[in-house]
Amino acid sequence: MKIFQCGHCGHPLFFENIYCENCDHTVGYNDTQVIMNTFDQSMDSLLFADRDNKQYRFCKNKEHGVCNWLIEAGSSNDYCTACSLNRTIPNLSNKTNHEKWNKLEIAKHRLIYQLQRFGLELPSKMVSESGICFDFLAQSEGVNAMTGHANGVITILLSEADEVLREQMRMEMSEPYRTLIGHFRHEVGHYFWDRLIANNTILLERFRTVFGDERRDYGEALKLYYATGGNQQWSDYFISKYATSHPWEDWAESWAHYLHIMDVTETAYYFGLKVAPIKGFSGMTSEVNFDPYLMKDFNEIVEVCIPLLFAANAVNRSMGIPDVYPFVINQSVINKMTFMHEIILGSSLRSK
Ligand SMILES: [Zn+2]
Ligand SMILES: [Zn+2]
Ligand SMILES: [Zn+2]
Repeated sequence: MKIFQCGHCGHPLFFENIYCENCDHTVGYNDTQVIMNTFDQSMDSLLFADRDNKQYRFCKNKEHGVCNWLIEAGSSNDYCTACSLNRTIPNLSNKTNHEKWNKLEIAKHRLIYQLQRFGLELPSKMVSESGICFDFLAQSEGVNAMTGHANGVITILLSEADEVLREQMRMEMSEPYRTLIGHFRHEVGHYFWDRLIANNTILLERFRTVFGDERRDYGEALKLYYATGGNQQWSDYFISKYATSHPWEDWAESWAHYLHIMDVTETAYYFGLKVAPIKGFSGMTSEVNFDPYLMKDFNEIVEVCIPLLFAANAVNRSMGIPDVYPFVINQSVINKMTFMHEIILGSSLRSK
């Protein structure tokens, strides 16, 4: 993700900030310009932006402390681009629900930021059948609710926002990594498979050569996966063991990692991060001098990202915490991600 800057004093801002830590001005995220706008607090109900002198309002979800996105003052919408995709939010009379929802919103807003950077269209399911929406459910509210995707509806269980439960699940499933942003990136991958691949004969054919034949019974494939513990020889061809369960899951897993890599590379680009080991290990030098969302050649992105991830893992180990990226990216996975990168850059679903 980009580094944002206070329009009043130039101080760096995080994406989630609602005021500048340095000058105290109110700030909000402007998703059409991909910047943070700054507002003079003396005019708290009228938000005149520092950069374009337009008038804005905050998304209605700012009242709940879960959104800092802006809407143009004249718009008829109450909610921002990210929050207008919410179909179900949890019961907020329960305080712990509110805290968990906030964590989900942080991950979801980062997801929407990224999908907008790709220029992918995000029609709302409440308006269009081919659209997308989010259901954030506490287990008691939905019978047999599960985190997943079905026909544009992304369901995330509130319990996933509980770090203890999530770590327990991670261990039970023998996963090296389980995060909220990872869930969002995986599930939205299923949605974009439907939108980008399902009805495109040429891409479907290419998909089958890269990922295998998705006409294999999905329910049976998952049953078999959970019964047998999956293919143990997965690491040469897949990014995770779960990816072996069915070509749709391989796509969603690879899609999530593709989004991880794009985000890490963008962050490194904006921070000017570079890796240049002092003893000159070959293949370990990396400098990101391009915006990955504008880079056609995915190989260049992977080449700069892998040394960065390796260095970031080393830093984490210095602090005694788990690797930030506990995966090995093999050539087969690079081919899968390259396919995605080409599809997205060439997609008719891009709005810009
Ligand atoms: Zn400031
Ligand atoms: Zn919002
Ligand atoms: Zn899935």
